[in-house]
Amino acid sequence: MQDFRTAVSEAVRDEAALRGALAEADIAPMLMVLVQLTGDLDFLEKVAPHIHGAWSFLQSVPEPLKQEVRHRLIAALQDHAANDRPPPPQPPADVLQRMMGAGVGQTVPEEYIPLLLEEMRFGEEDTRAVRWHRDPAKLPLQGFKVIVIGAGFGGLCAAIRLKQLSIPFEVLEKNADVGGTWLENGYPGCAVDTPNHFYSYSFHVNNRWTRHFSRRDEILGYINDVTETHGLRPHIRFGAEATGAAFDEKAGKWRVTWRDREGRTEEAQCNALISAVGQLNRPSVPRIRGLDDFEGPLFHTARWDGGVDLKGKRVAMIGTGASAMQAGPSIAPDVAHLRVFQRTPHWAMNNPNYHRAVSAGNAWALERIPYFSNWLRFQLFWASSDGFHASLHADPSWSSPDISLNEANHKMRELIVDYVRGELDGDERLLAKVIPGYPPYGKRMLRDNHWYRMLKRGNIALETDPISHITADSIVMKDGTVHPADVIILATGFQASRMLWPLDIRGRDGHTIRGDWGDDDPRGYLGIAVPHYPNLFLIYGPNTNLAHGGSIIFHTECQVRYIAQALREMVERGYATMEVRQDVHDLYNHRLDEKAQGMVWAHPGVTSWYKNDRNRITVTSPWRLLDYWAMTRHFVPDEFRVANRPGQAPKVPGQRAEAVASADSLPVS
Ligand code: NAP
Repeated sequence: MQDFRTAVSEAVRDEAALRGALAEADIAPMLMVLVQLTGDLDFLEKVAPHIHGAWSFLQSVPEPLKQEVRHRLIAALQDHAANDRPPPPQPPADVLQRMMGAGVGQTVPEEYIPLLLEEMRFGEEDTRAVRWHRDPAKLPLQGFKVIVIGAGFGGLCAAIRLKQLSIPFEVLEKNADVGGTWLENGYPGCAVDTPNHFYSYSFHVNNRWTRHFSRRDEILGYINDVTETHGLRPHIRFGAEATGAAFDEKAGKWRVTWRDREGRTEEAQCNALISAVGQLNRPSVPRIRGLDDFEGPLFHTARWDGGVDLKGKRVAMIGTGASAMQAGPSIAPDVAHLRVFQRTPHWAMNNPNYHRAVSAGNAWALERIPYFSNWLRFQLFWASSDGFHASLHADPSWSSPDISLNEANHKMRELIVDYVRGELDGDERLLAKVIPGYPPYGKRMLRDNHWYRMLKRGNIALETDPISHITADSIVMKDGTVHPADVIILATGFQASRMLWPLDIRGRDGHTIRGDWGDDDPRGYLGIAVPHYPNLFLIYGPNTNLAHGGSIIFHTECQVRYIAQALREMVERGYATMEVRQDVHDLYNHRLDEKAQGMVWAHPGVTSWYKNDRNRITVTSPWRLLDYWAMTRHFVPDEFRVANRPGQAPKVPGQRAEAVASADSLPVS
């Protein structure tokens, strides 16, 4: 966005265009801009009772009142332009809170205001950037090196912060380009299901998304734009698949190994290692007998074979999770027949914006009306963040604990069932097959991509009985039914719990990640740091996946800020090693496990990639976004043991060493 005065004079230059845009732009962000420009809280109160939810398009503001908002906003912009007024000061916290509450028709608690201001970024300041405390020219930066593994959203975010701090770094990326999961998943219909005006970096706002929930190519375009804008390509070694990392105690450094494009093993050393390998990039191939005997094309959604023409083919798709939900309806019109093999049904909700393009009016307003974009971001943050969190805890006195958790969760269940019944034209037999027997949100809540309508098509079959085995040309069910197929698509997800696999990570004193975590029990402090692995930091590590709402990019920014602060501490204080304290780590995980146990993901009727066989939630965060933001906002040096020289016995800096991880130092929500 240009500076405020230029933006205002541009916005009013063509009044007809301004009127046209406001006629279809979202009313809530428009109202917020108006109040910000005029300070007219009386008018805010007049409109507020008509706003009943965070999704601006769902609001029932009467048309005459909408007209008044538009009319007043045009007048306010014209007044600012005519009088060359400076930008209005940021409203004080109490006013912001009133505005926010009015914008979403709910109370926005005071504790959220600092987080929201950071996320909305009214000024030019990059609110989550980390800055040196000391003069960087006097710091030994040239002798310090960081290696980042992965150039997806996480690794690129880390790279940007490292570059801003002038910390030397290199990114190892196994693929030939940036993008991570968005590069690897090229299946038809692949798209994000968190609204893009929120699912994007807070420091690299894109006001030109063409859709509210963009498709994969547009997201890849955004990732490439970020990469170019921040000059990251020269720092990335493409075609370098990290295979392992071992901590060299004597040197106080990590020795990182990778395989290059020719299969050669290479090695480099670094002071600190950041893993940004993601959780969803090692496909899970089901152990179904005879899978290898199938003679037709067979591929995983994340390894889509674009060379296979599905037109006129009998396609079998195994799995009904988020990938299937998008791929299925996208290929259904082309194939001769699609047979979907569902092991367990998933919950899927409707979102009216899911298939919509951003209206021309919204696009215009996003680009030209000051603060509109900031307020839309707020609106979307609120709509898709902590709102459902409280309703995901089991009520011990609830009468139907198998199918729902509490009254709110049950209401949601009924709402979705009604919606699905409508989509299935009242087909009760089909409804019974697709409605889960566990509470909503138990597995990842999906966005309905016309899945249910797809099931009503003449060329679709839904199989809910178990598969026995696969032959050269068919899928055979346990009851002996044979379903011939020309192509098999595995929409069977990823090995998420087996975190960091297949990397061989070796820490201090003989510790290995697989030895410490096994195949399915990862733990970390804040999901970022692990005892016995000095100077290792994880992005999207244990218990940092989001399942109640939010954008994983928000979580990533929280983690990267924390890591950047840790690195600042290392460099400024001259620490050779920094390792999270075992007691701090253990207490955190104790709290986390306690918190997670009462929540929907741990429901005994749910199996999912969020948890391991012992019902421990290993992947997903039980915290509200607010809690995690607060926990990661400030790096606390006393929670780590540090050493000034390699090999030296590490100790806790400062005096309060033994007291820090007291029961009150970790938030409880
Ligand atoms: P997923 O959610 O783990 O779903 C895998 C599906 O395969 C499930 O239906 C599962 O059944 C089934 N399955 C697995 N093994 C099977 C077997 N041996 N026999 C029969 N069925 C089997 O995987 P996904 O759909 O790829 O999604 C993974 C995650 O990626 C999502 O949760 C989401 O976080 C992310 N994602 C996001 C988007 C988006 O933003 N729109 C899109 C795609 C993926 P059960 O349920 O019975 O285990």
